[in-house]
Amino acid sequence: MTDPRRRVPRTDALLTDPRLAEAERTLGRALVKSVIADAQQRARAGDITPEQVADHAVAALPSAVVSLQPVINATGVVVHTNLGRAPLSAAAVDAVITASGATDVEFDLATGRRARRGRGALGALARAVSTAGGVHVVNNNAAALLLTAMTLAPGREIVVSRGELIEIGDGFRIPELLESTGARIREVGTTNRTHLRDYADAIGPDTGFVLKVHPSNYYVSGFTSAVGIPDLARLDAPLVVDIGSGLLTPHPVLPDEPDATSALRHGADLVTASGDKLLGGPQAGLLFGTAELIDRLRRHPAARALRVDKLTLAALEATLVGPPTPVQEALTAHVADLRERAQRLAAQLPGADVVDCVAAVGGGGAPDVTLPSAGVSLPESYAAALRGGTPPVVGRLEAGRCVLDLRTVGPEQDAQLVEAVTACSRSDRDACM
Ligand SMILES: *Cc1c(COP(=O)(O)O)cnc(C)c1O
Repeated sequence: MTDPRRRVPRTDALLTDPRLAEAERTLGRALVKSVIADAQQRARAGDITPEQVADHAVAALPSAVVSLQPVINATGVVVHTNLGRAPLSAAAVDAVITASGATDVEFDLATGRRARRGRGALGALARAVSTAGGVHVVNNNAAALLLTAMTLAPGREIVVSRGELIEIGDGFRIPELLESTGARIREVGTTNRTHLRDYADAIGPDTGFVLKVHPSNYYVSGFTSAVGIPDLARLDAPLVVDIGSGLLTPHPVLPDEPDATSALRHGADLVTASGDKLLGGPQAGLLFGTAELIDRLRRHPAARALRVDKLTLAALEATLVGPPTPVQEALTAHVADLRERAQRLAAQLPGADVVDCVAAVGGGGAPDVTLPSAGVSLPESYAAALRGGTPPVVGRLEAGRCVLDLRTVGPEQDAQLVEAVTACSRSDRDACM
């Protein structure tokens, strides 16, 4: 009797299977070959028969070359850090596709010469913040702070309130980030109260700049006191304000969130912000300030290491000039409309109830703001099954139920949501119920 292991089909023979040949065109030869190798190995180990190798390889093919999966965010957290923060608008997605090939990002088609990189996005940013004398874009807000410290405070002091020495997530702390440039942090005031004289006493010949950080992800209540931008602007040092969330102008739903236009109007010399929080765009660090300061930042040798990709510039421009972003839609959706959608969904889903719930702004800021919302509630066991579906749906566990909060689900995703829940209750009734 021949050893079945010797009958394991060869790779080149398997690659002529039409299903694997087609997969080679979309997924690439290396990926398909590695899937084939796994199936062959299982046959050699006796887990499957040699005749099953092709079918097993086909079944194991990934659906796409990218391992990232699109997810429906039904958590009710508008800017969800673990789900990639701001989802891009359809206009921004189109812009990314447009810019993905050869593009005139740094080229003037009229003259045939080199042009200012990303001038479209930079122009849109300047128009959006009328109080800015100059604008610049880097990789993220952390990079914006890094470039600011490297340019304005090498070997010097950054004066910052103790109440604003924040950790921004995943163990990253703004003071440590700034100190990594060789600047020194000069802490002033106390955790809950800092006064103008604390700053004034600390400012001297070693001061690089005064930094005001918006504590986006927490708030202190009770006996507190902080110094506002207009007062800090009167001090004898450049004033840098990290607003965090990236609002360019005041937002009606988030009256306490700082915005770039107002911060500059009140006297900030430089403002830094993220592009993928409340602005609802791609990951980016936005810098607004006087023309002179922005120019110094742009010319710093390290600026090149922090510059953004053409895809980011394209998405940012579309975010700024295009229709409202998904983040903006989620923030301003009327709860009555969300409830109506929840009723329509629940009517199609056995075991689902309509619930009123409370959504949050999320990693983007406004920790004290709650957004009234509505959704459907399902048995708790749905949570894991929905996460394992296609597309995965991530809900929120609340009082022993799995709540799908519609504030963070676009109306265009409702049909997908119904399909996902239905598939989950059909495929594994026991696990789901
Ligand atoms: C989020 C945040 C940062 C970090 O921004 P990234 O764009 O994630 O680098 C810095 N400062 C504040 C106040 C923030 O809220």
